[in-house]
Amino acid sequence: MTDSSSDKLIEVLRKAVSRTSILAEGNDPELDSVVRQIRQATTTGIDAKAILDVLNNAEPLLIKSDQTQMNRAKQVRHTLEALIDLLVEQGSNPVPQNEKKQLEAQIRSHWQSPAQWPILLTGFLTLVEKTLHQASYSSEQPKNSLFKRLFNRRSESEDTQSNQDIMLRISHTLAGLMDNLQLPNHYDDDIADLVKALQSTNDIQLLPDLMDEVINFVMVAIGKTQESLANYLTQLNKQLASINQTVTSSYNSQKSLSESREGFNNKLQMQVNDTSQAMQGINDLDSLKSLINDRLSTISSTMSEHRLQMQEREKQANQSITSLKNKVVRMEKDSTSLRSLLQEKMALAMTDSLTGLPNRTAYQDTALPLCKVMQKTNKNICLAVCDIDYFKKVNDTWGHLAGDKVLRLVPKQIRSVLAKEDLIFRYGGEEFVIIFPDTTLADATTRAEAIRATVERTPFNMKGEPVSISVSIGIAELQSQEDPESLFSRADKNLYMAKESGRNKVIANK
Ligand code: GH3
Ligand code: MG
Ligand code: MG
Repeated sequence: MTDSSSDKLIEVLRKAVSRTSILAEGNDPELDSVVRQIRQATTTGIDAKAILDVLNNAEPLLIKSDQTQMNRAKQVRHTLEALIDLLVEQGSNPVPQNEKKQLEAQIRSHWQSPAQWPILLTGFLTLVEKTLHQASYSSEQPKNSLFKRLFNRRSESEDTQSNQDIMLRISHTLAGLMDNLQLPNHYDDDIADLVKALQSTNDIQLLPDLMDEVINFVMVAIGKTQESLANYLTQLNKQLASINQTVTSSYNSQKSLSESREGFNNKLQMQVNDTSQAMQGINDLDSLKSLINDRLSTISSTMSEHRLQMQEREKQANQSITSLKNKVVRMEKDSTSLRSLLQEKMALAMTDSLTGLPNRTAYQDTALPLCKVMQKTNKNICLAVCDIDYFKKVNDTWGHLAGDKVLRLVPKQIRSVLAKEDLIFRYGGEEFVIIFPDTTLADATTRAEAIRATVERTPFNMKGEPVSISVSIGIAELQSQEDPESLFSRADKNLYMAKESGRNKVIANK
C-alpha cells in the first residue's frame, strides 16, 4: 500500500478504537482509566504500532480490572459458603444434606461465572426454604443436636429466637455482599435501602423477598456488564467494517494494484467477519481484551504485510525503471555513435580525398541553399569557376603524381587569398568552384584576380625544376529570381571565354 493509504487506514483505526473505548467506559472505575488511556493514545497516536503499544501498556490495568472481577467472584463464593454455614449453625431445623451437597458442588463449579451468581443465590434460598419446612424429626438431623434427638422437638420460643439470630447474621452477610457488588453509582440509594433493610430485620419470613432483591442487584451488575460488552463489540464490528470500506475505496483508486488489493481486502473482510462471530460468544473482560488485541495485531500484521508487498512492488518498479533508463542511455549512446558514424560517412562522402576540399556533392548541398538564402535576404553572392590551364600537359610531362601534387597545391594558393566566409569546392578534375557570400561582383572579381595572380607567381617544383601553372576563372553574380544552376552556367560560360581569350584570365559579368 502506498504510505498515504496505510496512513488513512491507521487514521480510521485510531478513530475506531477511540470511539469504541467510550462505550466501554462507566462500568468499572479501573476499566475507565484504561479506556481513557487508550482513547488519549489513539487520538494522538500516529500508527497501528502506537495503538498496540498503548494496549500493551494498558494490560496491567486490564489485569487489575480482571482481578477486581475475580475478587467480586470470591466475595460471592465466600458469602454463599457463609450463608450455608449460618443455616447449619441455626440448629433448630436440620439442613437437608443432599440438597446442601448439591448446592456446594454447584458453588465450586460456577462461582467464577457471574451469570451463575443469581442461580446459586436462588439455590441457597431454596435450601433455606427446605430447611425451614423440614420436619424436626427427620432422619437427617444434625448429630450435634443431642437435645433435639432426646426431646424430639424444641419449644416455639426457642425456634423463634434461633430464627431471629440466623436471620440477623444472614442479613449482615448479604449486606456485605451488596457492598462488594460495585454497581454503577446511580444504584447507590437503592443498595443503601436494601442494606438497611437487611441489617434491621430479624424476621426470617422476610428472607425470600430480601434475597430476591439481592439477586436482582446481582443480575443488574451482570446484565450491565454483558449489555455494555455487546454494545462495545457491536460498535467494534461496525468500525472494522467501516475500516474495510475505507480501505476498499482507497485501494479502488489504485487500479494498477488490483490483484494485491483484492487479497488485502479479502483478508481484512475475513477479519471483520471473524470479529462478528467472536462477538457472539463473548461475555467477559478477558475475552474482550484478547479479542481486541487479536484483531488489532492481525490487522496490523496484514497492513505490514501489505506495506512490504507494496515496497517490494515499488522496488521492482524502480528496478524496471532503472533498467529502462539504462536501456535508453545505451540506445542514446548507440544512436549518438551511429549519428557521428553517419556524419563521418557523410562528411567523407562530401569530401574530396585528394585535396581535402568539399566535393561536388557538398557543393550541391551547401552552395545552392546558400544562394537561396542570400536571394531572400537581398544580399549579393557571386560564383567563380576556376580551371587549371593545360593540366593535361602537366600530367603528360611530369606524371600523374606530379599532377596530383599540383591539384593539392593550387587550392591552397586559392584559399590564401579568399575571405574567411568564402567557400571552395573541388567540382571535378582540375576544376574548382568558389562561392563569395555577401560579396559584390567587383569584390569577388578582385579576389579572383588575386587568385589568378598568386597561382601564376607560385613556382611549382617538378622533379627539381620550377614550373609555372596558371588558372582561368569565370565569375558571375546571382541575379534576383535567378536559379543557382543558371548562375553556375553563366560563370562557366565566362570561364570558357577566359580560356578562349588565351587563359590565365578572369572574366566576370553580371
Ligand atoms: P584546358 O586549359 O583547356 O583546361 O586544358 P586541360 O588540359 O587542363 O583540359 P583537359 O580537360 O583536356 O584535361 C584535363 C585533364 O586533367 C585530364 C585528366 O587526365 C586530368 N585529370 C583529371 N583529374 C585528375 C586527377 O585527379 N589527377 C591527375 N593527375 N590528373 C587529373
Ligand atoms: Mg583545364
Ligand atoms: Mg578542365
